[in-house]
Order: sequence, then structure tokens, then C-alpha cells
Amino acid sequence: MINFNVPPCAENAMKYMEECVRNQKICGDGAYTKKCSQWIEEKTGTAKCLLTTSCTHATEMAALLADIQPGDEVIMPSYTFVSTADAFVLRGAVPVFVDIRPDTMNIDEKKIEEAITDKTRAIVPVHYAGVACEMDTIMEIAGRYGLKVIEDAAQGIMATYKGKALGTFGDYGCFSFHETKNYSMGEGGALLIRDPENVEEAEIIREKGTNRTKFIQGKIDKYTWINYGSSYLPSDMNAAYLYAQLEIAEEINSARLAIWNRYYESLKPLADQGKIELPVVPEGCVHNGHMFYLKVKDGAERKVFMDEYLKAQNGIYAVSHYVPLHTAPAGQRFGRFHGEDRYTTRESERLVRLPMYYGLTMEQVDYICEKVREFYLG
Ligand SMILES: *Cc1c(COP(=O)(O)O)cnc(C)c1O
Repeated sequence: MINFNVPPCAENAMKYMEECVRNQKICGDGAYTKKCSQWIEEKTGTAKCLLTTSCTHATEMAALLADIQPGDEVIMPSYTFVSTADAFVLRGAVPVFVDIRPDTMNIDEKKIEEAITDKTRAIVPVHYAGVACEMDTIMEIAGRYGLKVIEDAAQGIMATYKGKALGTFGDYGCFSFHETKNYSMGEGGALLIRDPENVEEAEIIREKGTNRTKFIQGKIDKYTWINYGSSYLPSDMNAAYLYAQLEIAEEINSARLAIWNRYYESLKPLADQGKIELPVVPEGCVHNGHMFYLKVKDGAERKVFMDEYLKAQNGIYAVSHYVPLHTAPAGQRFGRFHGEDRYTTRESERLVRLPMYYGLTMEQVDYICEKVREFYLG
């Protein structure tokens, strides 16, 4: 059997977590939280990184910071995880879904402008599979209409667009360190803040509406309730687990890219024969091997290929991905789709994700590719 995902764990994880326990430093904003934030700031070039309890929570923070109000509209793809929309729905906003591009499965930047109304406040690009959205176009539109940009870069750490890190283009960028992501702290995430003037408000929201961060930094001698907020601060033990991976981030990244490239090269002949389609990485995008997917003919073929052939007969745990949000009960209740759903539903039904994790061996990848070939060529 080959699992779809195995959570990443670096050799030093136990040592660092044990250190937190021994030193009785297990709450938030400890030494490892600081190390992780600094690492992310240096690596991405963002003005500020705040570690959070999840990417969902980072996005909720961004929605609060962007001052999203009831009735505001937020433009996003429908082909994404629920959190992209939920963070804004919690503020009473309306997610306005636009179609994706079939090549990258990212929001179609050419369809954004026609979805803008006088209620639109923000655009939320999702960098699917760590492949960047067309950020030049998106930032240009946002600038022209005075809209905030909040990047759902849950899958995007270590990936770039024209040399710049994903998560650093918009006002806010959100990373995930869930166990299914390239780097993990079990549950966790990070909020990247582009403009230094927004940092203080973010620190207050993350600390239950208090200026405790300033207190911890020794800038004030007691902290007080300043604004609304919540508890978005992860334990330092989780940060310790994550930091062990960040120390070897390049190694993890190259290992994932090597797997991705092996899949791509091995399956290219099948794609050339028109049996399957492979992912597209546009020029200017450097991805991070977050995901390897292929596309089969349609939903019916996927059922036979993925569930019956790969999983049941060969023990290969390939999986599908998002059911478009506008077709889900909550999506219908809270949001709307602007324009034609030309690709969102059709492409989502054809997509199959193959096993991908740090530690997957080339022998396993070759075995999976062999089985895929066998399915199509006998
Ligand atoms: C994983 C993921 C999230 C949610 O991340 P959590 O850290 O689990 O909250 C949000 N958006 C996308 C695109 C994701 O892949």
C-alpha cells in the first residue's frame, strides 16, 4: 500500500519539542515561534510574519484586518478549500466565485474585473499546488479599483512568481502548516503582512484584542484590552516541531521537486498520446512540488481509474480534490458564481492527485507510474 500523504517530520523535532517541555516554555510566542517567524521573514522578504493556529485563522485575521463588513463582496475561485470563503463569510461578506483557468486550476485573472461591483472589497487568489496565480494582472486590477488582496498561499511556501515569494504580493498572505502541507506543525499557519503599518493591529487581534505582544517585547509594563481579537497564537511546542523542518527546508523542497519531476517525465508519453493531461507551470512560476496531479477524461473514468484500479486493486491511495464551493450547500447559501462555470466543475471532476510526500521513494513513484501506464496501455 502507498499512502497519499505522510506528515513531514525532521530529525530534530523531538529534541526541540523536548526542550520546550523541559524549559517549561510551551505557550505561544516562545523561542521557536520567533525562530520560525524570522526564518519566514528572511526567506520570503515579507515585512512581518505572525505564526498562527492555522491558515484558516490567518485568513480570518486578514479578513478582520481588511475591515471586511457584512454585505461586502470578495472575489475568489470556487475551486478551493472551504476556509478561503469561510473566513469572509464569518464577517458577513459574500464570496463571489469566478471561473478557473484549466491549465493551472487557478483563478482566471481575465474574469476578475467583470465580477467587480461597487460592493467588492477584496480579491483572494489561491495558489493551487504551489503554482502562482497571475499576480501582475491581479495586483494591477486591485490597484485600479482600490481593492485589498489576500493571498491564500496555504500551499505556496517556498514557491515564487517572477522571483518573489508567494504570500508577499497582497496586503496579507496566508500559509498553512497542516499535516498535509510541505512543512507542518500538526495544525498551524502563518500570516504574512506586507505593510509595516498593519503589524501592530495584527498583533493585537492575534492576542485576544490586547497589546500583550508589546508587553512581551518589554515595550510596556502591563497589557490591556485595546480592540476586538481572538486567540490565534500556536503553542511553542508546535513551532519547535515546525522549526526542525524549516532548518532543512531546501532539502525537503528538492526532494519533493525530484518526485514531481519523476512523475512528470514518466507520464509525459501518456500525455503526448492524449490519454491524460499533466499540470502546467507557466513561465515565471517556480513551484514547490506541493502536489502532483493528472487529469483523466471525466468523472466516470476517474471513478474506475482512481477508486477501483489504483486504490482497490493496487493499493495506491490517489485522491480527488475540491468539490467546487458554489455547488456546496453553504456556498449556495452564502455566495454566488459570477459568469459561466466553464472549467471549475468540469476540471475538478477529472483531477486525480497521486501520492506525494517527503520520504516517498523513487521506487514507489516508478511503481505508481508503471500502474498508470498499465491502466491506459494494458
Ligand atoms: C490547507 C488549505 C487551507 C487550510 O489550511 P489550515 O491550516 O488547515 O487551516 C486553506 N486553503 C487552502 C488552499 C489549503 O490548501
